Amino acid sequence: MKQKPIILVTCGHFEQRVIKLISEDITNVFQHPVENKECSLDINKHYNPGRRQYDANGILEYITSLAPEQAIKVIGLYRVDLYIPVLTYIFGQAILNGKTGLVSLYRLRNELYGLERNNDLQIERFRKVIIHELGHMFGLIHCHQTNCVMRSSSYVEDIDQKNRDFCNNCKILLQEKL
Ligand SMILES: [Zn+2]
Ligand SMILES: [Zn+2]
Repeated sequence: MKQKPIILVTCGHFEQRVIKLISEDITNVFQHPVENKECSLDINKHYNPGRRQYDANGILEYITSLAPEQAIKVIGLYRVDLYIPVLTYIFGQAILNGKTGLVSLYRLRNELYGLERNNDLQIERFRKVIIHELGHMFGLIHCHQTNCVMRSSSYVEDIDQKNRDFCNNCKILLQEKL
């Protein structure tokens, strides 16, 4: 286990059980301790009334400006609908090799696509997206292996096809970066 913490900033209500699962995932995969913090950021100024969504890049910049020195990475967990200018919506966003990232539960809900509500599936997707974004933050780029967590996902079905783990190649690359 390395020294510097990865900080998990929760913005909105998340079940303790879910935070625990995510913290364990992160520690297991990235070998850094996890610290949980509640969000104190006011994201209202990043709301785009025309799109009725939040500007992910704006929030990301804000998280970056407040990231504590002692943390190796900071990832924000949201429940709001996020976008970047070139895409209709995003599941998450991170700076490649950077210190910060963010992920939202919002677009991971089955109900949004006319499917039956499934909380477990939503959480499973959330865990995959978080590992994916942290992968970027540790320098990994998109992978073409169907089951690899670093494969790019445009739809929830894409996320469902992936494992909550890296392919062997990405695993080796990650070990070099950790
Ligand atoms: Zn990605
Ligand atoms: Zn891979």
